[in-house]
Amino acid sequence: MSLYSYNYDFIIVGAGIVGLTVANRLTALYPDASIALLEKEPSLGVHASGRNSGVLHSGIYYGSDTLKASMCTEGAQRMVAFAKENSIACHQLGKIIVATSEQEETSLKKLLENAKKNKIQAFHLNEAEVQKYEPYAKAPFGGVYCPSTAVIDSKAVLNVLYQYLLSKKVVFHFNCSVASIESQSKKIWAGKGQAIYSYGHLFNCAGTSAVQLARYFGLANEYELLPFKGLYYKIKAEKDYIVRSNIYPVPDPALPFLGVHLTRIVSGEVYVGPTVIPAFGQENYGLLSNIRLKELMLVLRCLTMMMVTNQQNFRKLVSSEMKKYLKPYFAKAACKLIHNLSSVDLVSSNKVGIRPQLINMKTKKLEMDFILKSREHSTHVLNAISPAFTSSLAFADLIVENVERA
Ligand SMILES: Cc1cc2nc3c(=O)[nH]c(=O)nc-3n(C[C@H](O)[C@H](O)[C@H](O)COP(=O)(O)OP(=O)(O)OC[C@H]3O[C@@H](n4cnc5c(N)ncnc54)[C@H](O)[C@@H]3O)c2cc1C
Repeated sequence: MSLYSYNYDFIIVGAGIVGLTVANRLTALYPDASIALLEKEPSLGVHASGRNSGVLHSGIYYGSDTLKASMCTEGAQRMVAFAKENSIACHQLGKIIVATSEQEETSLKKLLENAKKNKIQAFHLNEAEVQKYEPYAKAPFGGVYCPSTAVIDSKAVLNVLYQYLLSKKVVFHFNCSVASIESQSKKIWAGKGQAIYSYGHLFNCAGTSAVQLARYFGLANEYELLPFKGLYYKIKAEKDYIVRSNIYPVPDPALPFLGVHLTRIVSGEVYVGPTVIPAFGQENYGLLSNIRLKELMLVLRCLTMMMVTNQQNFRKLVSSEMKKYLKPYFAKAACKLIHNLSSVDLVSSNKVGIRPQLINMKTKKLEMDFILKSREHSTHVLNAISPAFTSSLAFADLIVENVERA
């Protein structure tokens, strides 16, 4: 028997960028509704939304038929405007994608086609032209310049949204981990005292836990989480003049990862990363920290399946990424993109994030796009991988469409 019970028109599980922007949209559409967020951590930004690269992507990478493509460009424009309105640090200095082989030169052309289809400004440059933007970039096979790419203070975005939502009487329950859900009676058991939360409509925006929660609704049985760890180094201050804005490699089109890149963040520091190293659990931020047996067993099962089937060239991905635990290998990936950088210029950073990457157990492939599932009185945001931060303000509109309150 629970001591406390609460009743809200809308409950959002997870106060990352997706949960916060969903709440923001709900307050605009339903100003009289009661809205609550249930967040298992004591504060905001403890997971992906507070641990990312802080890049507002242009949308050049994504096929025009994907949700990512349709959300990213609009989302980025709206986030830049949101930053301006709220005095959040945001620098729109553009990005250079560099080709370092003939094969990558071919992929650059595909990126330019994507840009055209997705109506994104992008310019093909030769190496000399690349170096007008980024004097130290290596681009023997040319590059692409995307002027709309920006960097933003991600944590400031979360805090501004939080203050705004409080002013709209949205209720935040922190330290409130959802333990179970009864979809028939629309009840959630959560928090240390196992309070009962009743809802009219539930939004599952729980990041790495979203699949687990969706299963209470008979959804997402075909997916499993395969968490990947993103580690970063920083370029030491006296050397970071070699990067003006953002320098990226040409990504492998078979994979939903962009590769180690160089980013001058809003503080002026230059970060290098992130890696895509398989993590041993949802919150395994350190080498061996926060490893739970059940999660570890699942990761090992998924990894084994992917290594055996080798879909999306998975073995090559894992072997090249695991090596990046060793600094010389990590540095090699960065040095491929830029002159005048060596391993000694990289200093450790405590920035590390975990991607809520899903694999589809039927197709045995990594899911490349956002996944949105609905049931009566509930909506589930799965695979909110990059660029979910960039896309969030536009994506929230789509997530909130067609909800029921009763
Ligand atoms: C290394 C890295 C770099 C990235 N770089 C970029 C980038 O440059 N640009 C970009 O657009 N995107 C980037 N991303 C992706 C972006 O950060 C994520 O897509 C986005 O933050 C996802 O937001 P979210 O709200 O879904 O997840 P989260 O921020 O993880 O929020 C989910 C919340 O749910 C809570 N929760 C989980 N389980 C429960 C439960 N049972 N009960 C209650 N609460 C629960 C968690 O505590 C968490 O606060 C990056 C991601 C990583 C990991």
